[in-house]
Amino acid sequence: MTIYDNYIGVRDELARACASAERNPRDVRLLAVSKTVGPEGVREAYDAGARDFGENRPDQLMEKQPLFPDARWHFIGNIQSRRIKDIVPHAYMIHSLYQMRHAVKIADEAARVGKRQRVLVEVNVSGEESKSGIASDEVDGFVDECLGLASLEVCGLMTMAPQGDLPEARRCFAALREIRDATRSRLLAQGDEEAANSFVELSMGMTDDWREAVAEGSTIARIGRAIFQA
Ligand SMILES: *Cc1c(COP(=O)(O)O)cnc(C)c1O
Repeated sequence: MTIYDNYIGVRDELARACASAERNPRDVRLLAVSKTVGPEGVREAYDAGARDFGENRPDQLMEKQPLFPDARWHFIGNIQSRRIKDIVPHAYMIHSLYQMRHAVKIADEAARVGKRQRVLVEVNVSGEESKSGIASDEVDGFVDECLGLASLEVCGLMTMAPQGDLPEARRCFAALREIRDATRSRLLAQGDEEAANSFVELSMGMTDDWREAVAEGSTIARIGRAIFQA
């Protein structure tokens, strides 16, 4: 199988999974996580129709984004303060925000380059020690602080589920959806319609668990190996 064929296969399977979940395939973005391949690998997926790519290293993001400027490049990796200036100019969306000092710095950098930076708040739903993200009960406070930063557009939530236990992963995805829905309702009740309208995304699901994530409302499936591994 080639990357081209893999992408078409995943795209079609995702469309079928949406149909069985009674969801519109347009509501689930297929994010091709290209961190393991070079620009030629990206090209194959691009030729198959991919327009959303995910990278977890600033250097890779900086290299690939200018080569495919009409694609949307998502930063899904660990954020380091000193690399924020490298990430912001190239990122359509940053998925892995969970520290307020980074939020402030991202907002400053976005203002400096004249953009509004889309961000997702990473939540550690399972509470596993090894996972990054804020705790579920910290979401309200964190989101409110981010909403105070005018150069950020807070677009929703991201999570990584525990591996090797699909029922548990599904519970995490359902929990993240509930947090998003509750946050939207709270923002609406506060009269902040604009913030509520932006707060729609659920970045959840990877190669091994995207079917569970789509069944629970994922709007962005981050898929690497199923596309880029031979
Ligand atoms: C690598 C990575 C993915 C893709 O994982 P696969 O299992 O290869 O599909 C998704 N999200 C994040 C944050 C990643 O680092």
